[in-house]
Amino acid sequence: MNESLVVEPPASALAIYAHPDDPAISCGGTLASWAAAGSTVHVVICTAGEKGTTDPETDPARLAAVRVTEAERSSQVLGLAGTLLLGHLDGELENDTALRRELVEIIRELRPEAIISPDPLAVFFGAHHYNHRDHRVVGWAALDAAAPAAALPLYFKGTGPAHQVTSAYLSGSLQPSVWVDVSATIDRKIEAVACHISQLADAGEWLASALRDGAEDAGREAGVAFAEPFRRIRLAP
Ligand SMILES: [Zn+2]
Repeated sequence: MNESLVVEPPASALAIYAHPDDPAISCGGTLASWAAAGSTVHVVICTAGEKGTTDPETDPARLAAVRVTEAERSSQVLGLAGTLLLGHLDGELENDTALRRELVEIIRELRPEAIISPDPLAVFFGAHHYNHRDHRVVGWAALDAAAPAAALPLYFKGTGPAHQVTSAYLSGSLQPSVWVDVSATIDRKIEAVACHISQLADAGEWLASALRDGAEDAGREAGVAFAEPFRRIRLAP
C-alpha cells in the first residue's frame, strides 16, 4: 500500500476556508469520505462571498444571502455536521488578532483532531493563475490559530479550554505529502460544488470534468482511482 495514502480518518475535523464554495472545491471528496466513515466534520467559512460576481448590478447583501443557502446545501450533500459562517467582507480578510480569536474559539469549542485549510504557500498555479488573497490569508490564519494559539491556555483567555489539534491538512498545495482516497465520494463532491449555482454561470460542466480530471491525476499518484492531495503537518503525536 502507498504509505502516503491516509487510511485512518480523524475522529473529527474542521475545514477553515474563505468563501462558501471553497471547501467543496478544495477538499469536498475528503470531507464527504471522512464524514461517511463516522468523523464529525464541520466547516467554517470566513467571508460572506458577497463580491463573487462579474455583474456590477448585483446587490452584495442579496448575493451573500444566496451563498448562505448554497453553503448549507453543499454541506448537507457532503454529510457534514455543521457550517459556521463568520461573514467577514469578501476580499478584505485579514490574518489579525480578531480573526485568530474567532478561529481559536471555534477550535476550542469543536476540539477537532484535524484542521483542513488552504496551503498559504500555494501562490502561482502555472502561468495563468495565482491564488486568491483571501485563500492565502485564511491559510495562515488557520495555522496560526491552531498552533500555538488554540493549544496554549494563555492565548485568548475566555474562549474555552486549550485544545491541541493533531494534524493540519493543507489543500491546493504545490508540495503535497499525503493523499486521501475519494473514489467513493468524487460524485458527491461534484454534486456539492454544483450547489454553488451563483458561482457557476455556464461553467458547471467544465468545472465538473476539471475536478474529476484533477482527482484522477491525484489518484494516479496515490495508486487509487480518485484522490485529493494535501500537505500534512503533524502538530502533535
Ligand atoms: Zn475562494
